[in-house]
Amino acid sequence: MNIILPENFTRYIEQEKVVFIEEGILYMKNTYQFKRLMMELAYAIYGNDRCYCCGSHIPRSKATIDHIIPQDYGGPDITNNMIPYCEKCNSRKTNLMPKQHDEYLAISSQEGRRQFAKKCNLENENLRYDKNFSYLCDDENGYWVKQCPINKIKGADKRIDYTNKESKKCKKYEGISHHYSRYNRFQKPLIVDRNMNLLGGYETLRFAKERNRKREKKIETMPVIILENVQVFY
Ligand SMILES: [Zn+2]
Repeated sequence: MNIILPENFTRYIEQEKVVFIEEGILYMKNTYQFKRLMMELAYAIYGNDRCYCCGSHIPRSKATIDHIIPQDYGGPDITNNMIPYCEKCNSRKTNLMPKQHDEYLAISSQEGRRQFAKKCNLENENLRYDKNFSYLCDDENGYWVKQCPINKIKGADKRIDYTNKESKKCKKYEGISHHYSRYNRFQKPLIVDRNMNLLGGYETLRFAKERNRKREKKIETMPVIILENVQVFY
C-alpha cells in the first residue's frame, strides 16, 4: 500500500538529510524514529496546528494524534490512520471506530454517550479475532494487511533479555504474548518498507521469533503492512 505524503518534507540532523521525498517515495534514514516521523508527516499533511475534530489550536508541545482505527484494534502508526486531534478530543474518542465516533458525537446527553460507548466496546471485541485485519482498508489501497512469511521480514534479529519484569520493553512484550494467547492473533500488524525492512512492531516480531525458537509448531506467516512508497537507507 501507499501512505499519504505531503508534497514536500525534509528533515536534517547535523546537516545530514535524514528524511526526504523524491518522486513520490519517502526516504528515511534507519536511525530516524518511524512513529515520530509519521506524526510529523500527519501534521504536515493537515497543514496548520489545528485539531481536526474541534478546530482549536494545538500548541506544538502538546501535539497529539488520533488513530482513526484505534491502536487497540491494531490501527497502525501510518499517515493514512492519523489525524491531528487536541488532547481533549483525543481522550474523549477512546476506542471508538470512525462511524461509531460520528454517532457518539451526535448524542447530546452524557449518559447516552456513556451507554453508547459501552455498547460499542463490547461489539468491537469481535475485531480482535479478525486474523487479517480486514477492517484496515481504503478505496485506493484495498486491504492494508497481507500475511507474509516470517523469514522474509528483515529486522528484530537481536535477542533481547525480557526477564527484567519492571522494564518497559518487558511489559510490552508480555502484553503481546498475552494478547496472542487470548485471541490467537497479533494485536497489531507489522509495518515494513518496500524492501521488507521492519519499521514498526519490533517487539511483536521478536515475540514470534522467540516463540518459534521454543515451540515445535512454528508461526509461519505474520500480518504485515508493506509501505510501497517508503524506503529506508543506511
Ligand atoms: Zn479538539
